[in-house]
Amino acid sequence: MKDEAPTEGFPRQVPLFPFLVLALSLLFTCLVTYYLSSANRVKNAVRFANATLVTDAAINDSLNTYTALLRGGAGLLAASPSMTKDDFEAYFSRLRVSEFYPGLFGFGFAKRTRPGEQAALKEEMRRTGRTNFTIWPESSNEESFPVVFIEPMNWRNQRALGYDMYSEPVRHEAMEKAARRGFALSGKVTLVQETDENPQAGFLMYVGVYAKGIFPETDAERKEKLIGFVYSPFRADDLFAGIFAGSRKLLTSLEVYDGNTIAPEHLLFRSSHAIPRKSLFKLNDKLYLGGHTWTLVHRTTPEFERSLEHANVYWVFASGLALSFILFGVTFFLAKARQRAEESEQRLRQKRERLQASEELHRTIAETAADAIITIDSHSKIITINRAAERIFGYKIEELVGQNLTMLMPERMRSQHEAGIARYIATGKKGIPWGGVELPGLHKDGREIPLEISFGEMRKSGNRTFTGIIRDITERKKAEEQIRNLNRDLENRVRERTAELLEANNQMETFVYSIAHDLRAPLRAMRGFAQALREDYAMQLDDQARDYSARIIASAKFMDDLINDLLSFSRITRAELTLSPISLDAVLLQIRQQLADDIAEKEATIDVPAKLPDVIAHEATVRQVMTNLLSNSLKFVSKSVRPHIVIRAEDAGANWRVWVEDNGIGISPEYRDRIFGIFERLHGGAYAGTGIGLAIVRKGIERMNGQVGFESELDKGSRFWFELPKA
Ligand code: ADP
Repeated sequence: MKDEAPTEGFPRQVPLFPFLVLALSLLFTCLVTYYLSSANRVKNAVRFANATLVTDAAINDSLNTYTALLRGGAGLLAASPSMTKDDFEAYFSRLRVSEFYPGLFGFGFAKRTRPGEQAALKEEMRRTGRTNFTIWPESSNEESFPVVFIEPMNWRNQRALGYDMYSEPVRHEAMEKAARRGFALSGKVTLVQETDENPQAGFLMYVGVYAKGIFPETDAERKEKLIGFVYSPFRADDLFAGIFAGSRKLLTSLEVYDGNTIAPEHLLFRSSHAIPRKSLFKLNDKLYLGGHTWTLVHRTTPEFERSLEHANVYWVFASGLALSFILFGVTFFLAKARQRAEESEQRLRQKRERLQASEELHRTIAETAADAIITIDSHSKIITINRAAERIFGYKIEELVGQNLTMLMPERMRSQHEAGIARYIATGKKGIPWGGVELPGLHKDGREIPLEISFGEMRKSGNRTFTGIIRDITERKKAEEQIRNLNRDLENRVRERTAELLEANNQMETFVYSIAHDLRAPLRAMRGFAQALREDYAMQLDDQARDYSARIIASAKFMDDLINDLLSFSRITRAELTLSPISLDAVLLQIRQQLADDIAEKEATIDVPAKLPDVIAHEATVRQVMTNLLSNSLKFVSKSVRPHIVIRAEDAGANWRVWVEDNGIGISPEYRDRIFGIFERLHGGAYAGTGIGLAIVRKGIERMNGQVGFESELDKGSRFWFELPKA
């Protein structure tokens, strides 16, 4: 199923070619069908046209035949003007009408009877056997053309005898035309022979009979020499039935209209199967005969249409359609198969390209890597190896491929390696860390090389291979050794230097101590003698001398204080401090007694809200520290302010933190880091002091494993603190 999914870059497309084939074959089918059907149509139209021609010809032939028959009769009458009804009957019977002229309904002669001749004609007719002959309709004053002979003398034709056809307009017009032209057809009439029984449309055919049988040249002569008309009445239905009897069967439907107008009142004949319907073909023809026009309307009948050719058109179209779809199906299937093949080929190509690219990349990485990359099989046989290995181990690649990896190991490592691999393959347990382990390698020239190796395993189609990435760490090892040596040197040097410094320091401190100590004796002498001078010679000394001596005493005192402080500082720095639990309360009590004069003088109050705790410290040093802090709090207060000091302790984990808070002048923040330095004094002029007190505090606390600090703001008092380990 996975292969069915469209690959990236191959949107599955509907193949176009099969649709093109389908469109083309459908087009071809349509074209062939169209061509065939139009060819059929032409063929069928020709067949129809032929059929109409045959029909037209049959009608024409037939009417021409009747015309000839009438012309023959006219010739005979012209030649024998005294012809009797018996002669006419004998002539007619010789014509064998029913045999040769099946459509002929009657054959007669209308004799020209000028005004005044009617009585003689009647007389003669009666004389020759037509006893009740009369001319009708009666019109004695005009020229008339009564029917004098008519054959066959059946009951219908008997009705026509004596009928003056000239009196009826349609016949009159045809007779006029026939007189002029020698021959004419009448328009549509109802024959006098017709009764109510099966009435049919009728028409008449006239041929003029001229005296002496010659067709006169001018109209006037024709009029003059006309002696009558041989004529035939036709019942249209009977006539056309006669024409299309026997082998001349009417193949199409036919309507015959008198004149040019197609209208029911002009209809002469309609073939029996001419049912009004939409026919495949229709054709209107004109037939000109004896100066008269007939309009013939031909149509195909269902029977005729059925006989036309079109069956193979349907067959061709249907099979073309089927073939088109079969062709489409086949090409679609082929195109799909081809598309699928192309896609899978392209997928394969892409896969191969990706594989090649990745192999290329790996090869390049392996070739350019600074580390040796060696792949072995499960028997430790070297499969691949890169350039860097040549450099590290001194062998050529060709010398190594196919060899056992153990040749790159010192003798003592080989069995260990083999056992390790065998165990790993058997149990999956790793004997050494694979992520990076330092192992010795063996160079071609026999020397050992320190290596750092990482391992990897690959399983492919049942084969297990192991890859080692091997780094030569000779240089690193050397560098590490150097660093170790340097450190060792450095430590030795530092130790020596420290010892020297300590020695110098000791000497210096001893020196300072002795100087300070020795300075005090002359100072005390100066102070003592100045004092003696003031007391013993008080009377002799004037004010100035007294002032000078007072200054000597003060200076000597300051000098003494300074030396005292320096000695304290030096002591604190040098002395061995043995630490033991000390009661801060007890220490404070001593200090209060020590500073009692000062406290009283300044009217100061010292608040200790709670009992102070015990700490691990050196008692004299703690006393010195607290004395210095309290002295400062008493000293650095504005003249107008009575000092108020609060001392309290708080828990600080392993230590107690002791706060000494005052309401003095405060310290601006910029001096924060300075005031614990020796000889640092912020308010030198206004307040006496040596600038050593806080230096002693810090030194002392630090030597007792504690810390010291303060918080203060100018004019808002100071809060000094120190921490010492809890007792
Ligand atoms: P001094 O002998 O001047 O007291 P210290 O080392 O004890 O020397 O103090 C250094 C300086 O720190 C002092 O000169 C003073 O300016 C400032 N100082 C110390 N303690 C206080 C305090 N409680 N309030 C204000 N200033 C103080």
